[in-house]
Amino acid sequence: MPSMNLPADVFDYGHGISAVDSVYDRRLQTAIHLLVEKGRAAVIDTGTSHAVPHVLAALQAKGVAPEQVDYVILTHVHLDHAGAAGQLMARFPNAQLTVHPRGARHMIDPSRLLAATVAIYGEQETRRVYGEILPVPQSRVIETPDEATLRLAGRELLFLDAPGHARHHVVVQDSRTGHIFAGDTFGLSYRELDQDGRQFSFPTTRTSCPGPCPFTSAEGEWTRRYSNGSSNRSPLSKLTSNTRDRERSLISVGVWLGMDRSMAQAERPP
Ligand SMILES: [Zn+2]
Repeated sequence: MPSMNLPADVFDYGHGISAVDSVYDRRLQTAIHLLVEKGRAAVIDTGTSHAVPHVLAALQAKGVAPEQVDYVILTHVHLDHAGAAGQLMARFPNAQLTVHPRGARHMIDPSRLLAATVAIYGEQETRRVYGEILPVPQSRVIETPDEATLRLAGRELLFLDAPGHARHHVVVQDSRTGHIFAGDTFGLSYRELDQDGRQFSFPTTRTSCPGPCPFTSAEGEWTRRYSNGSSNRSPLSKLTSNTRDRERSLISVGVWLGMDRSMAQAERPP
C-alpha cells in the first residue's frame, strides 16, 4: 500500500548517484535512482504515480530543475517501476524516455498494461495502488536494444538485455563507476525477513515451470556473472539497500535459482 504522506528516504551513493524510496507497497522495497552529471539528470525507474512528489522533491533538493532532466530511463515496464513514466515526462519538458523495444508500445499506449493489472487487482485497487497512468508521446520514446548506449552530459550509459524477470528487462551500466542499475534482475527481499541487519533475497521469477525455464536460466546467468566476480561493482537494484549486502543477496538468489532448475528437471516427463 503506498504511503503518500510519508517523506521518502533518499540515499546518496556519491558520483552523482542517489536512490529515492518510491514508497511502493512498503518502505525500503522499491528504489528510484537519480543520476546527476554536470547539471543534467536522469531518473532511472519511476515508481508509481504516487512517487512523483518524492522524485520532484529529491531533484529540487539536489538543485535540479525539471528542465534539466534529459532522460527517464526504464529497466522494465512493470507498473511498480514505470507507472509514473507518463506523469514525469509531462513534468520534464526536455526529457526523453528510454525503454526496451518490447516495452516501448506499452508506454506509448498503456491500455494493455493497465488492463492486465486491472484483471489481477480490479479497477478500484489498481487506481488506488498505481494512480493515474499517462501515455508517453511516441516522439519522446527511445528504444534501447541490447548494447545501446546514450550519454548524459558526456557520461556513457550502456544498456544490456537482462531477460529474466521479464523479457523486456534491461540493466543499465554506468561507465563512470561500473554500477549496474538492475531493476528486478537480482531479486527481491523484504525488510521483515532481514536478520541481524542482513538481507534474504529471492528471484522475482516463477519458482517452477515445466522443463528448462528460459526466464530463470537467463536470470541465473546474470547472477553467476556477478557471483563470479566479473564485476566488482554493486548492482543498484529493486531494493536500495541491496547494495550494502551484495554477496548475500547474490548467494540467496543463486540458491533459489538452483532449486528452481532442480524442480524443473524433476518435473520433466521421462
Ligand atoms: Zn518487475
